[in-house]
Amino acid sequence: MKVLKFGGTSVGSAASLQNVKKIVEACPGQVIVVVSALGGVTNQLLDMTNRALDQDSSYEAILEQVRQRHLDTIAQVVPEAMQQQCNAIVEQFIDGLTSFYSMLFINRDLPADYIGTLRDAIVAHGEIMSSAIVSCLIDGAEPHFAPNFIKTRTVDGEHALQAELTERLIAQELGSSTARCIVTQGFIAEDEHTGHKTNLGRGGSDYTAALVAAALKAESLEIWTDVDGFMTADPRTHHDATVIDTMTYEQAQAMCDAGAKVIYAPTLRPVARLHIPVWVKNTFNPGARGTLIH
Ligand code: ADP
Ligand code: ASP
Ligand code: MG
Repeated sequence: MKVLKFGGTSVGSAASLQNVKKIVEACPGQVIVVVSALGGVTNQLLDMTNRALDQDSSYEAILEQVRQRHLDTIAQVVPEAMQQQCNAIVEQFIDGLTSFYSMLFINRDLPADYIGTLRDAIVAHGEIMSSAIVSCLIDGAEPHFAPNFIKTRTVDGEHALQAELTERLIAQELGSSTARCIVTQGFIAEDEHTGHKTNLGRGGSDYTAALVAAALKAESLEIWTDVDGFMTADPRTHHDATVIDTMTYEQAQAMCDAGAKVIYAPTLRPVARLHIPVWVKNTFNPGARGTLIH
């Protein structure tokens, strides 16, 4: 069994989603697909939260753009027989967002911790909607809701992963499935005590995929992104950066700690412990070898 994680740009357009479908369908054996929100949506969800809190009704137009983008994507990539069901899921979550934002817009004196809880609930919608699209796109995919098994606890105001509980719940929920393809959300989690939706921090979908790979002792973890592999530097700022063929976990960890955002820094630890190989691959150029971290 392999775990394949697709980032925001990989699920961000109809063309890239067609690549996701081909990559998953070509992968032999059981595949667990972990997805991010459509590229840019997490930022928009947070931006709308700030606008609603500032009593700025311009969030409504942005929400309509987000809604339309998801519906357009469904129309372009989801098989016709599944479109109505998929549209209904997106509309349901857009309705949820509408309620959350109007609550922030109308109520001027909400306590700060309540606003924080609402913000976390709101930001979870990006991965929930993208995973609905990917589930409908891939034939026979079995959807699973990540907050059922990725659990956090509040420690000093932060969401701390409950690693042992999470490992046990992943093994229970995903380990017992015989589906050829499972689709779940990266990034999002649930507070083990309150049941509130939480998350693993910005860029955290990589970490979700690593936790799943480790709990299920996957054959490999594949991080599918928008560059040909782990590079000597960020290609956006260093035009002479080149792809590194093979790295040790320690080498990759050192670069992540120094800010290489191609992999979210906490990701490698759980897989390195079990010697699970990690591939960094390009959804837009699947023929490129990519980087092997082992
Ligand atoms: P995703 O949405 O797939 O998680 P990210 O934007 O989080 O993608 O990470 C991929 C981006 O990381 C690349 O587009 C690249 O600009 C940036 N990046 C920074 N450092 C590196 C590096 N050393 N190697 C490759 N990409 C890097
Ligand atoms: N969607 C989340 C973010 O933008 C998580 C992720 O993409 O890994 O931070
Ligand atoms: Mg990322």
